[in-house]
Amino acid sequence: MNSVIPPSLYDLLPAEMDALIAELGMPAYRSNQVLQALYREFPESVEEFRQLPAEGRAAISSRYRLSPAAEVRRVASADGNTTKLLLRMADGTPIETVLMQYPDPGEKHPRSTVCVSTQAGCAMGCVFCATGQMGFERNLSAGEIVSQVIHVARLLKQRGEHVTNVVFMGMGEPLANYAETVRAVRILTDGRAFGLGQRHITISTVGVIRAIDRLAAEGLQVGLAISLHSPIEELRQRLVPTAGPHSVQEIVSAAKRYFKATGRRVTFEYALIAGQNDSPEVARQLAGLLRGTPTHVNLIPVNPTAGGFGRPVRAAVLEFERILVGAGINCTTRVEKGSEISAACGQLRTDQANTIIPAEELSLAPVAPMHGRRQAKPSPSPSQTR
Ligand code: SAH
Ligand code: SF4
Repeated sequence: MNSVIPPSLYDLLPAEMDALIAELGMPAYRSNQVLQALYREFPESVEEFRQLPAEGRAAISSRYRLSPAAEVRRVASADGNTTKLLLRMADGTPIETVLMQYPDPGEKHPRSTVCVSTQAGCAMGCVFCATGQMGFERNLSAGEIVSQVIHVARLLKQRGEHVTNVVFMGMGEPLANYAETVRAVRILTDGRAFGLGQRHITISTVGVIRAIDRLAAEGLQVGLAISLHSPIEELRQRLVPTAGPHSVQEIVSAAKRYFKATGRRVTFEYALIAGQNDSPEVARQLAGLLRGTPTHVNLIPVNPTAGGFGRPVRAAVLEFERILVGAGINCTTRVEKGSEISAACGQLRTDQANTIIPAEELSLAPVAPMHGRRQAKPSPSPSQTR
């Protein structure tokens, strides 16, 4: 695998674009023209920068590539609300990106959340996660993270829709690729670039404590979700083998610090696994652990992967939730999206053929009609995502 990633225009913050344009001897206003082309028109090559003279396009191409994500395969769920994309990065690395749509009664357009990958594979090795089981390949650059959102934005634009939310919940551990993750957030939220509201972004982490504190000090308003999975140290270490011996306590303290620094309540994600972490006793311990912490618990009945971990029966899920709610803990169970196309939490892997089918066999699925049961929204809490 070629690890040299060609620099992409999508790696640049607007101020860096200004500097590049100046360096190339072009007038300053060209920078805004390039940014507008990149983040409003979603071109597939520098040749599409129509406002620039040919020499300007050539000068930019001599230094940077556009490196758009190339779509290899696409599959949509039966209800059309979840679309999984297999995208190829410029060096050939395949990654997965998921679009989740939520019909929004009364609104003209559905809520459209893009779930981005931050790494090809993942080194954290969570035993129930397909990405963890494929191992770590490499970090993605900020431009590669941004290009996933741009790819979906281009698809949505074709039908008059737009990206409303981005969640860093795809393949990989975002905080183990800290600098590129934060750079991607800044590009996605800069008014001169993609311009998404910071509160419309959620980063999900397995709990890299030092990185959580660093993120809290960035002055950003992004949502944070921490994958806890157990209130008991030994059990958590069994599920997340790379977790430290005091990770549960440390995570709860870090969540409190994040809330204090940002005013944003942290969500705890909890993959419910039959016979492992789903008993009423564990629920009571979790309630005890989180009492007094401003938080939201998102229960995710585990999605099937090769690991053989099973989903608890519905009654067990309801009982677990009932105990938490009864103890005053804010809690919801995630309505599953995309599990039949292996696009749900923990099902993303690119090292084996799965249910994806060639893009040319599918057009982007139509938005489901706006009737039936309303699903909860994915933001500001990341419940309902992935
Ligand atoms: N690495 C980050 C973000 C990607 S995983 C993290 O772990 O938080 C996104 C979410 O999917 C996490 O909450 C993770 O615990 C969850 N997940 C992983 N495998 C799963 C599975 N098989 N079923 C349900 N959720 C799963
Ligand atoms: Fe990595 Fe998150 Fe999967 Fe754990 S759950 S292996 S941290 S992607």
